Amino acid sequence: MSPLAPMNTLRGVLAAIEALPLPGPVRILNLCGDQERVISLAGMRRVLPRRVQLLAGPGCAASICPEADLYQAIQLVQREAVTLLVSDNMLQLPLGRHVFGPRTLLEAKLKGADVRIVSAPIEAVLIAQAEPRREMVFFAAGFETLLAPLAGMVLEGLPENLSVLLCGRRVEPLIEKILSSEDPGFEALLLPGNRCAVTGTAGWEDMTQNFHIPAAVAAYTSTGILAAIHAVLRQRCADEARVDNCYQPMVRPEGDAMALDRLYRVFDIVDGVWRGVGRVEQTAFRLRFAYDVVNADSRHPDYRGELQQSTGEMPDGCECAAVLLGKQEPADCRQFSVGCHIDSPYGPCMASEDGTCYLRSRGHRAA
Ligand code: SF4
Repeated sequence: MSPLAPMNTLRGVLAAIEALPLPGPVRILNLCGDQERVISLAGMRRVLPRRVQLLAGPGCAASICPEADLYQAIQLVQREAVTLLVSDNMLQLPLGRHVFGPRTLLEAKLKGADVRIVSAPIEAVLIAQAEPRREMVFFAAGFETLLAPLAGMVLEGLPENLSVLLCGRRVEPLIEKILSSEDPGFEALLLPGNRCAVTGTAGWEDMTQNFHIPAAVAAYTSTGILAAIHAVLRQRCADEARVDNCYQPMVRPEGDAMALDRLYRVFDIVDGVWRGVGRVEQTAFRLRFAYDVVNADSRHPDYRGELQQSTGEMPDGCECAAVLLGKQEPADCRQFSVGCHIDSPYGPCMASEDGTCYLRSRGHRAA
């Protein structure tokens, strides 16, 4: 890997980016909701050279949670005597239009369902321990950064009254699939620093080589993200392709051995549905059979079959399927700021605080 870019100020990195002799326009796909938050709220797109386009990719775990899992969560908390523990960015995610009853967990909560907000798996454990007679389900939608600590807690033993409704995803095979298509829509990748700290970068190295696409692991500050942008653009200028690590010392090529060990002792990998994208091979985490006792799908009825064909993954007229893959800008959706707002979201990308439309909308407000 190449060393860090020798700049540590916003102005310095921006000047270095502007000075690069780019061979043509470059579209960079970002894969992290937290980094997209920094990019949007800092107005980073406005200060980059015109030829550099920053696209937001599938970095929000809530937005890509399939409608069937969301339906299952809504039905469980309404029809069974359970408490649903969920992160707040799942609360307003909408089902398709033609479903009878509440379309979001928030609507279910307002109708009396016991939906409670947690910000980390440990909170779910503590709440379950505090009310041992109440059956609880932790609706866990996330990537390796959520699943690795959850795996540790499963290994230590969850409270008997707590089970997990899992929507865990890994993004590498999806990006590989897109890169194999005729028109991927981007020429460089910004990799999520915290996820790479768990997984390492070896898998990404192979991808950059196979598809000759520059990549850089990015940090979570404006300067750190700009340094990663500079790193991929510099590779592009030199017609090189590798993973530059701009999040040292947090990220190592081999990842976090202890976290990975826990992760794969508790979960195996199966095909998974991404909302708006469809089924992608080897992208979903599933609780191994040895931990079936904490699997909410085994402990409670499965209502997913009721969804039938009548519902779409996205509400009518919502362009989130394209937005999720960086193929469309939020503002190009006819609903953006018209029928879909931060305060009354219509599609999943506006409903989640890590969603691209939500963040772009907040960025516009802040500008
Ligand atoms: Fe979907 Fe709303 Fe975004 Fe349009 S603006 S793509 S309706 S979330």
